[in-house]
Amino acid sequence: MPGKFDRPNENDIRFLQEICGEKDVISSGPLMDDYARDEMPWVKGYPAAVVFPESAQEVSEILKHASARRIPVTTRGSGTGLCGGAVPTLGGIVLCTTKMNRILEIDSSNFTATVEAGVLLTTIHQAVEARGFFYAPDPGEKTATIGGNIATNAGGMRAIKYGVTRDNIRGLQVVLSTGEILNLGGKHAKNSTGYSLMNAFIGSEGTLGVVTQATLRLLPLPKQTLSLLVPFASLRDAIRAVPKVMESGILPQSIEFAEKGVIFAAESYLGKRFPHRTAPAYLLIRLDGNSREEVTSAMDLVGNACLAAGADDVLIADTPEQQSAVWDARGAFLAALKSGNEVDECDVVVPRDRIADLVEYTKEVAEEVGVRIESFGHAGDGNLHIYVMRDTMAQEEWEEKLPRAMDLLYERGRELGGMVSGEHGIGVAKRPYMEKSLSEDEIALMARMKSLFDPAGILNPGKVVPLSGS
Ligand SMILES: Cc1cc2nc3c(=O)[nH]c(=O)nc-3n(C[C@H](O)[C@H](O)[C@H](O)COP(=O)(O)OP(=O)(O)OC[C@H]3O[C@@H](n4cnc5c(N)ncnc54)[C@H](O)[C@@H]3O)c2cc1C
Repeated sequence: MPGKFDRPNENDIRFLQEICGEKDVISSGPLMDDYARDEMPWVKGYPAAVVFPESAQEVSEILKHASARRIPVTTRGSGTGLCGGAVPTLGGIVLCTTKMNRILEIDSSNFTATVEAGVLLTTIHQAVEARGFFYAPDPGEKTATIGGNIATNAGGMRAIKYGVTRDNIRGLQVVLSTGEILNLGGKHAKNSTGYSLMNAFIGSEGTLGVVTQATLRLLPLPKQTLSLLVPFASLRDAIRAVPKVMESGILPQSIEFAEKGVIFAAESYLGKRFPHRTAPAYLLIRLDGNSREEVTSAMDLVGNACLAAGADDVLIADTPEQQSAVWDARGAFLAALKSGNEVDECDVVVPRDRIADLVEYTKEVAEEVGVRIESFGHAGDGNLHIYVMRDTMAQEEWEEKLPRAMDLLYERGRELGGMVSGEHGIGVAKRPYMEKSLSEDEIALMARMKSLFDPAGILNPGKVVPLSGS
């Protein structure tokens, strides 16, 4: 650990126990392993203690103490992040939000839900849908916490129509490392009142403050959904159909793409057959609306646009069972690729009209470097998930080939006008690529922001921006 930080000692652990209670502090035993990693396989770091506060006040006490003692604090939700963001790479304290898990209010006049940071996305979806509302963001991993979604500005499959997490947050409660508790935004739909401090925390990956509560924007739950499974002779044809779908005048809820290999992996992972299996590539399109007529006429327009763009067929999934056969498979793509294999991912986002170029380039990289590369993603918003697969590669070969493949993919992403991360964030794993992609001035301004919000530099140090002084 750099000289700048201290290791928690027995007194510090005792302090945490006094604040949160003994049962809400762990400092030894096999459970510690669970807090030494997230879903990014090669980033590891053991905390000296894991603490489970139950209120903003407790978070405030912990952060004041950690600032005074210069102990790193890594905030953690469910640990489903894909870039090492929740891993305590410099040790210290992991502050886990999972006991702040209450839905505080669903306000049917203002169309908002106010929730604590540790509530799971799936719990929010179920609770609001039971009341006829819709929380639109739909990232693939439903066991993530809303705090984690906010901290990474998670995207997901409905972003093309309803925006990402940032677009669906009305208010936040945040605790600074100095212990101040800020209530930012609120239930109002508009706000031009000074700088948007609230937005500074969204996507800041636990480096600026700890989110303890959020007020979410709700919409009326769409009454009807219908899905289309559209097979194509090649991925290029599938991707090239996307602008045609958009030009049909219909904005689908989701437009995802996948190649046959990823679909087969999901089939064997789930033990369920996909409704169509013979085409090299597919678009998965979901439409929503308030009446049967509305979604059926949207289906005609979108289906015809796909056929005019060269689709082999257009399969309609309109019963809940048919729709879940398509979307359960889509939800399992990542888990299926990761199952029994080591993978590293590139979550680059490019303008929608450049996505085909990047997907094609992944094939060139696979050949040039000699690795298997699989990809799927959000065709509607240009966000690709590209996976470099280790398969049976020896460690030495993997360590040589993986960075070569990643360098090439990120470089082409940049040339195509893209950004390093569309939705998974930077954490520690993507920092070198972010540093190549943003200007020195931007990185320096981010570092200055970090020291303004977190003067002791204890919040998730080394993530997103370089450690100060390094
Ligand atoms: C199978 C799978 C599918 C996925 N699909 C998607 C997808 O479609 N779209 C997408 O965007 N992501 C996806 N993800 C990534 C992941 O689920 C998201 O990044 C999610 O937002 C992380 O939430 P979490 O609660 O697990 O956060 P963690 O992993 O615990 O933390 C993530 C980051 O947020 C910070 N953080 C967590 N809580 C707080 C808080 N309360 N205050 C401040 N900082 C905090 C942490 O310090 C860390 O930097 C997927 C992951 C998996 C494993």
